[in-house]
Amino acid sequence: MSGTPILHCDLDAFYASVEQILDPSLAGRPVLVGGGVVVAASYEARAFGISAPMNVRRALERCPDAVVVSGSFGEYSDYSDRVMEILRDFTPLLEQISIDEAFLDVSGSIHLLGTPADIAREIRRRVKAETGLPISIGVASSKFLAKVASAAAKPDGLLVVDPSDEIAWLHSLPVRVIWGIGPVTERKLHDHGIQTVGELAATPVDALGRWLGPGAGHHLHALAWNRDPRPVQTTRRAKSIGAQSALGRGLTDPEELSGVLLHLADRVGTRMRKKHKVGKTFTLRVRFEDMTSATRATTFDAPLNTTAAIHRAAMTLLDDARSDHDGPLTLVGIAMSKLADEGAIQMELALDDGDVSHAGSVAADHQSEIDRQIDRARERFGRDVVGRASDLLNKDRRRVDDGFRKLAERD
Ligand SMILES: [Mg+2]
Repeated sequence: MSGTPILHCDLDAFYASVEQILDPSLAGRPVLVGGGVVVAASYEARAFGISAPMNVRRALERCPDAVVVSGSFGEYSDYSDRVMEILRDFTPLLEQISIDEAFLDVSGSIHLLGTPADIAREIRRRVKAETGLPISIGVASSKFLAKVASAAAKPDGLLVVDPSDEIAWLHSLPVRVIWGIGPVTERKLHDHGIQTVGELAATPVDALGRWLGPGAGHHLHALAWNRDPRPVQTTRRAKSIGAQSALGRGLTDPEELSGVLLHLADRVGTRMRKKHKVGKTFTLRVRFEDMTSATRATTFDAPLNTTAAIHRAAMTLLDDARSDHDGPLTLVGIAMSKLADEGAIQMELALDDGDVSHAGSVAADHQSEIDRQIDRARERFGRDVVGRASDLLNKDRRRVDDGFRKLAERD
């Protein structure tokens, strides 16, 4: 046993939980995410025996009161990013394994932040306070056992497996808790009288090999003794930060498009500043009503992250893209890449030309200060407290924020 304290953090019924936050009238109600097939079900729906993947029609037979939503995937991506950012505050050794799950090695954080149990409690508190989402955490000395523990902790729970009790606890569980034991393997083990992990651990490896194949036999026997040497492997950070919007029926009005791009630039700029990143390359992607698409990119003189500069670049590239094709747009997306840490902004001298794209110019400094103030106000009072001028303009026309679906671009 390595003794490394590992946390497995897993958001509960993630998509359904986000839907319940986005629409508070769904809180406490059975929610199904999906079209023909249930992609995710809230715990209230699971109580009716509904699970993913299940036909939506069949699910509704079991629970006629369930609310079916089609899914706000941009929001899921956004919430996922926010949760992962919180987790990174506790350790840089984070391995994200899916949109709603991550392993954390907290061995280096203990002297600063307390025991692994303290850290797990604080993570659960912060994720709930800052995003509204319930997250379950398992703490153990291996990735395997931490994941088993988080599953046992659900919903909205914490399970810390004491190192001296690990084997006893693991051996008391049914064999199906082990990764890789599906219904077929489970049945085979049952046929040989093996119900619990303890019984599996007590079975000679050779016998397991004969029944399940030598590879699987060794693997399952090792896990039954909590032998899982895999370290937490830090996931690479995003190489780009982006956002996109589907525009429903096509948009052509330049002012409305400018509003949409400002909204996206604001989202991207805010995320970059929060991550203390600046970017040197900017990309705009658009899709037209006739399903053709266009991509334009530009490189700044110096890396930046101000909303105004991102918006200006977006407008320039949009003009360029529309000079070839002026049909209605059904989707716009933007991304900043060639990312660097914020300290990399070089203060250029004598660029007092009022160009927000020139880092170090008076105009750019002025924009940075505006962004900082807006970010700070939003941090204290919530995202909607400060809108950009043209967001408000567009809100009056019931455009930008109405039924707007944003999709943070992931790579
Ligand atoms: Mg989950």
